[in-house]
Amino acid sequence: MFSSPSPITTSIFELFKPGPGPSSSHTIGPMLACLDFRSLLEALPERDKSGAARLRVRLLGSLSATGKGHGTDKAVVAGLLGHSPSSCPDGLPAGIFSLPPQERIMFPGRNGLELGPDTVLFGETEHAHPFSNTLVCTLLDAAGGTILEQTYYSVGGGFIQREGAPEKKGWSAPAYPFNSAESLRARAEESGLSIPQIILANEMSLTGRSRAEIQTSLDTLLELMRRSVERGIRSEGTLPGNLGVHRKAARLARRADCMDDPLNRFLGLLNAYAFAVAEENAAGNIIVTAPTCGSAGVVPAMLTLLEGYFGFGPDGVREGLLAAAAVGFLAKHNAGIAGAEVGCQGEVGVASAMAAAMLAQVRGYPAQIVENAAEIALEHHLGLTCDPVGGYVQIPCIERNAMGALKAYNACLVAAAEDASLHRVSLDMAIRAMGSTGRDMDSKYKETARGGLAVSVAEC
Ligand code: SF4
Repeated sequence: MFSSPSPITTSIFELFKPGPGPSSSHTIGPMLACLDFRSLLEALPERDKSGAARLRVRLLGSLSATGKGHGTDKAVVAGLLGHSPSSCPDGLPAGIFSLPPQERIMFPGRNGLELGPDTVLFGETEHAHPFSNTLVCTLLDAAGGTILEQTYYSVGGGFIQREGAPEKKGWSAPAYPFNSAESLRARAEESGLSIPQIILANEMSLTGRSRAEIQTSLDTLLELMRRSVERGIRSEGTLPGNLGVHRKAARLARRADCMDDPLNRFLGLLNAYAFAVAEENAAGNIIVTAPTCGSAGVVPAMLTLLEGYFGFGPDGVREGLLAAAAVGFLAKHNAGIAGAEVGCQGEVGVASAMAAAMLAQVRGYPAQIVENAAEIALEHHLGLTCDPVGGYVQIPCIERNAMGALKAYNACLVAAAEDASLHRVSLDMAIRAMGSTGRDMDSKYKETARGGLAVSVAEC
């Protein structure tokens, strides 16, 4: 049915990753790629190390087109300096380009290597590599000769691929292999397990981690999501960059709290929660990819609603997060979750589908309704382009997270109200449509800030 018949072997904690915003493809992915390149450099023989004179990281495709607005140059230097997304609890290290010389030495060479803005080159936006977000990392000698060169692809959601390397090493097979919503449903029916139970069992068999360890890590993710909502709700002021975008989450929350009409209050709070995380992301602070940084507000908004508004407890929301993971896995495996590959339908569209599945799961609906809720949410994001104004993950991204959360809620309402067996469009069909629409989409609508709103607003 799909172009990728192999079973899904993605870990929950690859999909949901803490890291600094504003873009998983443009900050977390490049940071991880450069951290990996650093490990290759450290493994070089002493002869090569002592001949090393400088480092160069060339950014191609969407990384070049919108890398400045997304802070990719800073993420690259942070990765080369040995920082990982999870080791930056307060976002990217401040003053990364103004470090004193002794801190700029990357590994012991004859004179050490200094890193700075000139380490990063913004290259061609059109290129022949298989993924738009491409980095070429090079270690050079004093004469400009190449000692080591490695190409990386940032394939969305902070996932990277090292060119020429197998995608994953050393993991076992999943206990309940699936690669489509249809096969996931079949595994559930054969085994008598729920979707969350299958995702948990697969995580255990893939990674060898115990149920208790996974549960602890899930709780850490949920806590990080809660904190990103709380921080965003408390923060005011202007976001970084030259658009002059003001944070609105605090204002939305205050206004919602004063509303007498319960429907307006409910919608106002959901908006405020989604804005809060999306604004934290735009500020470069720590969020959890869900499935990406740009769309990181949708699932935490639903989480906060489920806990704070409806009073669901930790067991329920953990199961909801696992159901959301299943939808994220399917979208990543069969279409893509990077704005640079499939447009915003793969970011906010998939986040909305994940949040709809989460809500349906926590409310205790059967697997078919969980799937239908996800499908409806995704279906009504199909064709959504990625057109960030000025290359910043702010306009339309922040408001779009709120719209994604509202659509998720509505999708679950619609799915729960209909006869699930009569639903005509499957989640697999919607994901397939997203993949083919993404392939047909002109590159100017795929995180290059060369089309759509990015151009209209710039021209005003
Ligand atoms: S428009 Fe959507 S896909 Fe593009 S940067 Fe914004 S959130 Fe990400």
